Amino acid sequence: MIARVEPLTTTRRLSGPFDYKADGLALDVGSIVRIPFGHQQLDGVVVALTDSTDVPEEKLVVPTDVRDDSVPRDLVDTALWIAEEYCSTPARALQIVTPPPGKAKTYLFAEPTGETGKLTAKQQELMERLPGPAGKDLAALRRLEARGLVTISERTERRVPRTNATEDRAHELTQPQVEALKAIDEGGSHLLHGVTGSGKTEVYLRAAQACLERGEGVIVLVPEIALTPQTVARFQARFGDTVALLHSALSEGERYDEWRRLRTNEARIAVGPRSAVFAPVDNLGLIVVDEEHDASYKQDGDPRYDARHVAAFRAYQSGARLVAGSATPRPETVHTMHRLRLPARVEAAGKKPLVFAEDPAPPGVAPPRPALTPRRADGLPPVRILDMRESQHSLHPETRRAILATRKSIVLLNRRGWSNFLSCKTCGKAWECPRCDVALVLHRAQHEIACHHCGHKEPVPKRCDNCGSLAVARHGAGTERVEHELRQMLDVPIFRLDADTTSTKDAVPELLARFHASSSGLLLGTQMVAKGHDFPDVTLGVVLDADSTLRFPDFRAEERTFALIAQLAGRAGRGPKGGRVLVQTRSPDAPSIVAAANHDSDGFLREELARRKAHEYPPFADIIRVVTSAADPDAARSAAAAIAEHITVPETQLLGPAPLFRLRDRERFQLVLKTHERAAAIHATGHAVEDAARAKAFKEVNFSVDVDPV
Ligand code: ADP
Ligand code: ZN
Ligand code: ZN
Repeated sequence: MIARVEPLTTTRRLSGPFDYKADGLALDVGSIVRIPFGHQQLDGVVVALTDSTDVPEEKLVVPTDVRDDSVPRDLVDTALWIAEEYCSTPARALQIVTPPPGKAKTYLFAEPTGETGKLTAKQQELMERLPGPAGKDLAALRRLEARGLVTISERTERRVPRTNATEDRAHELTQPQVEALKAIDEGGSHLLHGVTGSGKTEVYLRAAQACLERGEGVIVLVPEIALTPQTVARFQARFGDTVALLHSALSEGERYDEWRRLRTNEARIAVGPRSAVFAPVDNLGLIVVDEEHDASYKQDGDPRYDARHVAAFRAYQSGARLVAGSATPRPETVHTMHRLRLPARVEAAGKKPLVFAEDPAPPGVAPPRPALTPRRADGLPPVRILDMRESQHSLHPETRRAILATRKSIVLLNRRGWSNFLSCKTCGKAWECPRCDVALVLHRAQHEIACHHCGHKEPVPKRCDNCGSLAVARHGAGTERVEHELRQMLDVPIFRLDADTTSTKDAVPELLARFHASSSGLLLGTQMVAKGHDFPDVTLGVVLDADSTLRFPDFRAEERTFALIAQLAGRAGRGPKGGRVLVQTRSPDAPSIVAAANHDSDGFLREELARRKAHEYPPFADIIRVVTSAADPDAARSAAAAIAEHITVPETQLLGPAPLFRLRDRERFQLVLKTHERAAAIHATGHAVEDAARAKAFKEVNFSVDVDPV
């Protein structure tokens, strides 16, 4: 028997698989082996077992070791598919499906056998505390074991990840929920489209329940765990230890144990972010992708896989159901999946259509005139667009009034720091990163200006080093500056949530918990504040500079802008008091902003899909992006050009090479393929890049291929 082994090494130069003798070893596809390779030992994964090989008998060697844990066969297939689909290598793709390092934590456990015998007072005492761990009494217990009074066995101790407790009630389903659940149960893949609070999670929970009853396993994907603890908590509250949690904040031991519990079928539901799509769940019956619009599902590094696409592959491979849920689904999902609708917030049913959406003012603040805000029939808060084209301030007067009159609000500004760039008023010099072609952002609390791309930092300039002028202007406002302004006008606690205030692992959940517990307060932050939190007493949502996401030269700019505003609107007015949303923008007529203000996701999707069709963007064509980078711009450019020359695929448009901004001292060039022949284009790109990477002339060039970039 021959084992075909793919070595788990990251160099692109070594391309396997290589053949080894499997005689006398219990090997299967997915076994992890130690293999002699030249003068070194490498880990490898068995990708196939065969009878024949081209390697002469005398050169065939035997793996030196086989690991206890192995990769399930279907995940080996998934990894090999990823290697092709994302122009990566089998080794890199297999690395993401192999078990986490570690081993089970065991201890010895003693139990009385029921036999009796003569005991000393000390032994009597010992017997009385059994059954229990042997601990430091092992020697004494061994003597009792020898006399047949006690059995000692090895047990595994589970290292349990810390989680948030939540209460859980299974509800009687509404009619739309019943229909959605029925369709999901029947199989296939579905998009569950419903506003926040429309009962999507309850449908996932019921669908998972049905799978467990049939003996099937489940994978639930969520965006970052720290930002969406509630979904995880609800699965755990309902299903207890049959839920395994997989995410990067776990300790190595916890991660190993959770993986192992799934691999041995002790746990049947895997919950986690992107990488949980590789959970070793046997007899998979359902994969849920919650908040399917979230960009975190795309891996930013080789292999640049998209967990949503991998989920579809795994579901297809194992005949499992696939459910993608969102209040703001991506146009491509709407176009390609069967759609189930949850039309309204659950709690909207039976409510009167008019409520006061504003709270009494906090003590010490003069109450402004109370406004009567209509509640929409679907339970969503009304949204007002505030035109900022004439304004020099970061807050519109109406925003100020609303914030002053509200006990609890959320304010979104998708830009951190104090101001976005500095310039000299005398000579016009702008402060830029020495390694990247981008402006440095002022962080006042840290007394520095920083590059948000490479991390370069320098002290805040007191004067211009070009002309000596003291007049250094600060342009634009980020979260740090708005926090400062809000503190001057408000007495309530302000919680700032952005990458600067949450550098430690537990900072995000702690900050969110403090805001949650506070009877009054304002949560201010970047797009992190618009994720799935559920704060029932928040009655005001504000988006500042809503068009900031529109200014990116990217075909997804509209989609992102719509989703961000609509998601923030989903955070406000979830409780009985209702709520409202204000959107400040310099593009008050932008279709994505107007649609979000009207909660018109159907209208937005219709227009967006029409636009994408006209310009041949996904889902009407596939996009592949190749980026070359090098210190020498000529090398980067000619490498991109060489790749372009070698790609000839029908039904494929090639754009570029076009320069990108310099990053970390490297000049970059981009090549974009728009194709109707996905498989052929991926294949051709992979080959062209491999050839270029091997060419001597491009030794200093780095290559990155991104299929379906987001
Ligand atoms: P989503 O995932 O769409 O945001 P959830 O499933 O979290 O919605 O439901 C929103 C709220 O309504 C939750 O508090 C949930 O417990 C409750 N809920 C869900 N379904 C029902 C139902 N059928 N009847 C009553 N309450 C429900
Ligand atoms: Zn100057
Ligand atoms: Zn930089």
